[in-house]
Amino acid sequence: MSEARRAYLDHNATSPLRAEARAAMLELLDAPGNPSSVHADGRAARARVERAREQVAALCGAPRAGVVFTSGATEANALVLHPQLEVAGRPVSCDVLLTNGAEHLSVLRGHRFAPEQVEVLPVDGQGYLDLNALEASLVRHGAAGRRALVSLMAANNETGILQPVIEVANLAAAHGAVIHCDAVQAAGRVALDAEALPVDFLTLSAHKVGGPQGAGALVARHADSRVRAPLIPGGGQERGRRGGTENVAAIAGFGAAAAAAATGREEEAIRLSGLRDRLEKGIVRFIQDARIVGEGAQRLPNTSCVIFAGLKAETLVIALDLAHVSVSAGSACSSGKVGASHVLTAMGMEPDAAGAAIRFSLGWSSTADDVDLALASLERVVPHVRSRAARAA
Ligand code: PMP
Repeated sequence: MSEARRAYLDHNATSPLRAEARAAMLELLDAPGNPSSVHADGRAARARVERAREQVAALCGAPRAGVVFTSGATEANALVLHPQLEVAGRPVSCDVLLTNGAEHLSVLRGHRFAPEQVEVLPVDGQGYLDLNALEASLVRHGAAGRRALVSLMAANNETGILQPVIEVANLAAAHGAVIHCDAVQAAGRVALDAEALPVDFLTLSAHKVGGPQGAGALVARHADSRVRAPLIPGGGQERGRRGGTENVAAIAGFGAAAAAAATGREEEAIRLSGLRDRLEKGIVRFIQDARIVGEGAQRLPNTSCVIFAGLKAETLVIALDLAHVSVSAGSACSSGKVGASHVLTAMGMEPDAAGAAIRFSLGWSSTADDVDLALASLERVVPHVRSRAARAA
């Protein structure tokens, strides 16, 4: 019996492995070398890690030596959120971490900053960081002789909103602050070069660009920028920035995925925004009160966060799953937990609306057929789920 076709519209949770990444990884699974070994097998493994470093650096227009491979973006964020940094060869001590309520939880927790050093700034109703609040905070800390590390995501994982990273970087520079950008969801979807993201450090995750889960990178714009205290010192791998034998196959898969994501990125963004618009137009055609979060704001081309008033997102996710459509309620990291998304809550949304938000996220494997299957399923299941919810109320 053949399996029914599924529409996978959850690329922001994880993007399926690209063929290029799979091929690179398979090739390495049978290769024995440790990149730190001096023999030919070790040197071959080292060459694969260094090639991947070049590919990941190229995706963000950074120097090769700026790339530190980690186990993922969560680890890269935990590594960089530390008060003792070095920027372009200059030691810098940060006294406060300025973040905001719409960040991924792996940033919001502040990591190696003490809780009293972490300031969570407000975002507006669209999810944009409040620039006045940021400036006031930078002025206040500056007057007290405190230096800030500002951490701002490039694109929100739940809504796709693009943060004003250039303005924030200018403000940070004017106040002598260091800036880090979680670019996990922006990677492969919008430009990440120094002009688009003029930041000191950025975070990437392999599995959001079609690489494997369990690999990521902290990328410095300058070869001589680093975190002065490695999270994992271990055996001094990654030039002392991250210890532990490199996950060579995963790193090679990450590199191959980064190269594939960089190729034709602009055309792919146009294709994806076309599919996204087809989805959103289709939804509001038959569910007139559906509300698209951030409609009209600067958004990623692939992400659509839609509020279906009067129902619980978890119930709709399950109903869509039974109809062979994979989507998320809020972010995947917080799914399974009861309660509204912290991002939508930070945007000032009422709990009922925030609890009724579904995230559709498209990517390299998405087709018009996927969108049409999702639309046909929504048209069928939303009225059904709503009437059940109304009867239960
Ligand atoms: N930051 C953002 C914006 C994300 O969306 C995610 C993944 N949901 C992460 C960080 C964590 O990435 P990883 O799974 O590689 O740890």
